[in-house]
Amino acid sequence: MKNRSREERMEFLRSLGLADLHRHFDGAVRPETLWGLSQKYYSAIPGLDFEEFRAKLTYNPKTDRTLLDYLDKFHIPLQYTQFYDNIQSLATEIAEDAYAEGIRTLELRINPVIHRRAGLTTRQVISAVRKGMRETIRAHPDFRAGIVAIAMRSHGGNMAKILLREVIGELDRFHNDLGVVGFDIAGPERPFPPVLFIEPFKLAETMGLRKTVHAGEDEGPARVWDAVEMLGPERLGHAVSAAEDPKLLKRIAADGIAIEVCLTSNVQTGAIPRIEDHPLPKFLDAGVRCALSTDNPTVSGTNLLQEYLLAIDAFGLSESDVRALARMATEASFVGREGRG
Ligand SMILES: [Zn+2]
Repeated sequence: MKNRSREERMEFLRSLGLADLHRHFDGAVRPETLWGLSQKYYSAIPGLDFEEFRAKLTYNPKTDRTLLDYLDKFHIPLQYTQFYDNIQSLATEIAEDAYAEGIRTLELRINPVIHRRAGLTTRQVISAVRKGMRETIRAHPDFRAGIVAIAMRSHGGNMAKILLREVIGELDRFHNDLGVVGFDIAGPERPFPPVLFIEPFKLAETMGLRKTVHAGEDEGPARVWDAVEMLGPERLGHAVSAAEDPKLLKRIAADGIAIEVCLTSNVQTGAIPRIEDHPLPKFLDAGVRCALSTDNPTVSGTNLLQEYLLAIDAFGLSESDVRALARMATEASFVGREGRG
């Protein structure tokens, strides 16, 4: 890819029909829309202009250092994502933005529980996201999308089970498909290890949901082992620390588990010091399938094209490397027929 200009690289990437398997609803909302909503609800901070407002939504390397600093950026969107119409229109915009980036397969993940403060039910939250994304699916027949339901680690295993029952209890796959394709746990790893979530993941499997787990972002390889052995995921989110244990990488490769790799986010949360330090090449050498993803485009100030460009530069990827990466991501997606809306 060395001889290609940035524009040529972007055109090449767009031609591949990319897949983003790890994108959080709350971390992907348009700042302009939130700004408008903050005016509508009279909750704008007096004297704050749009650029200052936007700065509050985006990671700042000068002041933000840790996973908790990073997670703090999600508080502002939450004020406005408690209402059906807002969730729906934000989801349409997220899907439209993804399509414009060249993404043809999008998995959008959301924890419905934190969007129920104004009285919405879990079903309504999911339905709003689905309805929003369906507009984009209708407008672009080559676009596929699905939802990954997230349980917050900090809410514990029992709440995760309750959430699953709510999601699945309302989801009639044959008559009223809501497009939920997978289940995940997210939030601070250290106090809430995989062992707490054995039962919810069993339940998710019984209910026909595919399984992915945030692991090894803020914890060592021992907890990634736990996630693999106790929860039986098909994919892992981040799994950066897995690179410290060659036996673990072998196991991940042997089980065909794909790793959702989010380069910019991993630097910002302190999982790696610089993008060049990311174990992506190590993962690939070990035969692990990898899916470059964005995590949180708004919070991280990135998009999927940007993430591929960063990978190309940091690791000197060739055209065939990039093709292989894009194919791996699409193949590892949970979105199938049900993603067609
Ligand atoms: Zn994530």
